[in-house]
Amino acid sequence: MLDLTPIPSFTDNYIWGLSDGQQAWLIDPGEAAPARQWLQTHKLDLTGILITHHHSDHIGGVQALLHHNPKIPVYGPDTSKIKTVTVPLKDGTEFNLGPWRVAVLGVPAHTLDHIAYYLAPNAEQPGILFCGDTLFGAGCGRLFEGSPKQLHQALKRFKTLPPETLMCCAHEYTLSNLAFAQQVEPGNRKLQERQQQEQCKREAGLPTLPSTLAVELATNPFLRPHSPEIQVSAKHYAKADVIGEEAIIATLRQWKDNF
Ligand SMILES: [Zn+2]
Repeated sequence: MLDLTPIPSFTDNYIWGLSDGQQAWLIDPGEAAPARQWLQTHKLDLTGILITHHHSDHIGGVQALLHHNPKIPVYGPDTSKIKTVTVPLKDGTEFNLGPWRVAVLGVPAHTLDHIAYYLAPNAEQPGILFCGDTLFGAGCGRLFEGSPKQLHQALKRFKTLPPETLMCCAHEYTLSNLAFAQQVEPGNRKLQERQQQEQCKREAGLPTLPSTLAVELATNPFLRPHSPEIQVSAKHYAKADVIGEEAIIATLRQWKDNF
């Protein structure tokens, strides 16, 4: 029985907890206490930790979690930046995680070491993507290290996954991203619908995540550079012609950085 839980940490991070009912895996535990609380409440055995990139709000809790579980594997990018990683991974690697088959997607953009984990669908559940800070609900991560070209490549890879894939993003930024998305594409009716739905969830204290790839394809401007309305908006913002999907994504990212 799958349990996929966004565990709130810091002000707006989610540590993702994944469990088969007995064993549990944590994705990007930036701090140990909320993760431990989840494990204890559900009487789960921590079996492994998965890391998407080196930022401290994604790895800060690993050491403390290993204290009581020193033998568990810590999966992460194959760079030397994360000292606690014991299973270094690169793009294209596949491995088994309990009942799941996992494919590693190298998605350098937000950081150069960034990887995402795609758990293939099975008879009981859709695919699951742990995308870290590459994609957010209705938005995407800032480009601290990578280029717009790399972001475009990363997002194109996500777009090839099945539309029902559960998108497990690492921050609760959906409402503020939707405000930006509406500015960029005011004629997109799906945006207004999503805004209302997500607002209700937040008012009830619920996460807006996971979303699905289908929802993101319909409402996330960074996955919609083909939209004529977005193309016009990008041109207005840049005060120049913006030709091609990569240039539109670059313009949107710059616009969002100043929004
Ligand atoms: Zn980050």
